[in-house]
Amino acid sequence: MNQELIKAEQLCRYYSRGNYTIKALDAVDLTIARGEMVGVVGSSGSGKSTLLNLVAGLDTPSAGEVIVGGAHLSKLSRKELARYRAEQVGMVFQSFNLIRHYSALRNIESALYFTDVPREERLDRARELLDKMGLANRGDHRPADLSGGEQQRVAIARALVKRPTVLLADEPSGNLDQTNAQQIATLLKELNLAGQTIVLVTHDLTLAENLCSRIIRLDYGRVVEVLQ
Ligand code: ADP
Ligand code: MG
Repeated sequence: MNQELIKAEQLCRYYSRGNYTIKALDAVDLTIARGEMVGVVGSSGSGKSTLLNLVAGLDTPSAGEVIVGGAHLSKLSRKELARYRAEQVGMVFQSFNLIRHYSALRNIESALYFTDVPREERLDRARELLDKMGLANRGDHRPADLSGGEQQRVAIARALVKRPTVLLADEPSGNLDQTNAQQIATLLKELNLAGQTIVLVTHDLTLAENLCSRIIRLDYGRVVEVLQ
């Protein structure tokens, strides 16, 4: 259980704005074990999303490394990196980011379009997850016809359908009312108890404390505290 899965070494992401540099992430070191649920907290602008996007392989560091399962992301070819993103990373966002003109089922299935999984299996897996999320009778609905909580459950199903090595959630309950936020929190906890490695970004320290075994606090792009 204590096997190291994700490692960031002196990870930096700088943006230049005019004649000065914003250090969105500044020499961050961290490790995440397989099966762990880690919280990343910090105020707005502290670098949480930047960190998540680098781990997801969606962004490239200015310096330093992300190492996942022993592989240095910076050493992967373009094709290998695309494969990493498509197969190993499940992302969930505050704003759900579902495709508006796709049904719930198709939104979930579409996460497997860029993999080798054949269509029949894609649909089987998508239906199984709809069921698991309590949305079996919502498969034909488009996002606009679903509540916020339902849309976020579809988005989580879309992330999980890949059977990702890690689930990265960026403020997943940030747009939800308290009841739905609690439902999403419970769902994430259950997934973690079933073995899913999760990185949960939130500005809600209490939520992180209730769910996570470890909490990393960022401020101005630096790790300022680790709570166990
Ligand atoms: P958080 O998710 O904790 O709110 P972010 O990681 O989004 O913070 O941003 C960290 C810092 O980097 C902020 O100061 C933000 O303005 C800056 N930043 C993020 N993305 C960009 C970008 N594409 N261009 C310039 N600055 C950015
Ligand atoms: Mg953010």
